[in-house]
This record gives sequence, C-alpha cells and structure tokens, in this order.
Amino acid sequence: MNLINYILVKILSYFPKWMVKPFASPYVAGVTADKAVETVKSLNNKGYVATVDILGEHVATKNESFRIRDEYLNLYDRIKELDANISLKPTHLGLGIDPMLAENNLLNILEKAKENNNFMRIDMENSPYTDATIDIYKKCLNKYDEVGMVLQSYLKRTAQDIKNLNSDKFNCRICKGIYRESEEIAYHDNEEIRDRFFEDVKAILNGKGYVAIATHDITLINKIENWIIENKIPLDRFEFQVLYGVPMGNKLQQLLDMGYKVRNYVPFGEAWFDYSIRRLKENPNIMWYVLVNMFKK
Ligand SMILES: Cc1cc2nc3c(=O)[nH]c(=O)nc-3n(C[C@H](O)[C@H](O)[C@H](O)COP(=O)(O)OP(=O)(O)OC[C@H]3O[C@@H](n4cnc5c(N)ncnc54)[C@H](O)[C@@H]3O)c2cc1C
Repeated sequence: MNLINYILVKILSYFPKWMVKPFASPYVAGVTADKAVETVKSLNNKGYVATVDILGEHVATKNESFRIRDEYLNLYDRIKELDANISLKPTHLGLGIDPMLAENNLLNILEKAKENNNFMRIDMENSPYTDATIDIYKKCLNKYDEVGMVLQSYLKRTAQDIKNLNSDKFNCRICKGIYRESEEIAYHDNEEIRDRFFEDVKAILNGKGYVAIATHDITLINKIENWIIENKIPLDRFEFQVLYGVPMGNKLQQLLDMGYKVRNYVPFGEAWFDYSIRRLKENPNIMWYVLVNMFKK
C-alpha cells in the first residue's frame, strides 16, 4: 500500500489544484483568515477550543518572513473574541534563512500574544531545526510565560529534552512526529513510538509541566486517559489536540463529556496546495485516509 500511495502522491503533485483540493479540503479551513475565524467560531460553539496556523513553511526571503509575521500579528486581533490561540512554524518565519531572523519575528509575534493575553505555540519541524527551535522557545519563555513548544516522540532525544525543559512553565505538545527521520535518531517502529509517546506524556505530568496530547490514535488516547484518571491529574495540567477534520468517531465528544479540553488545530491560507502535497509526500498514508473518507461519504 505504501508504494502505491507514494506513487499516487508523486502523480498528484503534477495535477491542477482543483483535482488536489479534495485531498486537502477536509483538513484546511480555507484560504482566508475569515474562513479560519468562521471555522473556529463553529468549533467553539460545539465546545472545542482551537489553535490556528497559517499554512506554509520555509520562506525564501526575509521580506516574505516579515509578511508572514504581519499576518500572524493581525491574526491575534482576528481571534480576540474566540477561544483560540496560534501555532506557527519557525521556518515559515525565517529559521531556514537565519535563526536570528526567526527569533526576532517570533519575539514580535509573542509580544502581540502578550498584549492580547493570548498564547503562542511553536510547532516542531524536522530534526535539523530541533535545537534552534528549542533555543528560540527558551528565549521566548524568558519574555512571556504563555508560550509553548512541541516535542516528537519518535525522536530518540525527546526523553532527555523533556528532562532538560520540564518545569512549572513548560507547556509542551507531544506528538508522534510527521517528518522522515533516520533510524539513527528516530524510532521507526509504531509500537515503540506509541510507548515513547505514553512515557513522554507521563514524564511531563509527573513533573510540573502542562501537556497537550496531540494524537488521533484512539488506543493511545484511551491508555493515557486511564492513567490520567488513575493518577488524579488535575484538568488544568493537560489538553487533547487533534488536526481539524480528522475523523475520530465519537471519541472527541467523549473527551468533552469528561470535562477535558479538546483543541482543534485549524490550518488555513494560500499555501494549502504546497502544504498538502508536502504533507502527503511525508505521509502518503493520508491519501488512503482521504480516499476512505470520500467513499464513506
Ligand atoms: C494538533 C496536532 C499538532 C501537531 N503538530 C506537529 C508538529 O508540530 N510537528 C510534527 O512533527 N508533527 C505534528 N503533528 C503530527 C503528528 O506528529 C503525527 O504525524 C500525526 O498526528 C499522526 O499521528 P497520530 O498520533 O495521529 O497516530 P497515527 O498512528 O498516525 O494515526 C492514528 C489514526 O488516526 C488517523 N489519522 C492520523 N492522521 C490522520 C490524518 N492526517 N488524516 C486522517 N486520519 C488520520 C488514522 O486512522 C490512524 O489510524 C501534529 C498532530 C496534531 C494532532
């Protein structure tokens, strides 16, 4: 199946946008900030909170990074009345060009988050950027507490990163990790990644940090939920996170019914095509999920 999916994704990237749209649209709020705001409002009405992301990564020029920075500054004002915060990718703000450029852009955006009493989450990209991203996160944390980062359970370094970072100010999304990484630095076995994820969540909750549990793996969610109940972890120490549009059966409603916070990651923007193709290339299995969903519909 993997090989077939891989070939399909390769072919798909040469197709016109309208043909690719069905593979992107379940997961993307739309092209404009208006569409994202509309989506977040509807999620809020159903009891979910959200984190909004402007699609894109790896800007090519400084000016482009400034344009994205300004879009994020405006976005904080657009979501002022909503129960939502912002997630952003460091290479979208220049990390691939110059770490100082990304740092300054992120600090500017953080200032706006502070002004609006909101929160900023720094997504984690592939391993060449891990150290620089952690470094920027630490600098942000020196300026304002309401900032969080992401660690990926498939990376062998993550347990140590948690040890180094864990404190009452540590706010970390744990996810499995979406990029292709070598066996030297990353676990490849699904069961092992699952086990690492569980251990990472426990490590943060056994410390003083806050954890955002970002997975669609219902078996894993159930395991973590049981542990949380057994260990009487207070509601203000964690939340669950999912990507907008990923089918979860009635699991999300169950989590809401338990009183847990459930946050949808809502991406939007003009870069939906490149983003979707890149995501599909990184994880061709997504093709399969979409096809199955289309047939179900
Ligand atoms: C809120 C959020 C933020 C994230 N941020 C980052 C980040 O900053 N850096 C990073 O590297 N990764 C990030 N990820 C991606 C993450 O690392 C995983 O690649 C992704 O979530 C798939 O892994 P899974 O834990 O859902 O488990 P999997 O075992 O991959 O999936 C479990 C089940 O969920 C379903 N599923 C999973 N993904 C999809 C999908 N896209 N569409 C439809 N169904 C799906 C499938 O039915 C699958 O069987 C994020 C994920 C989430 C939910």
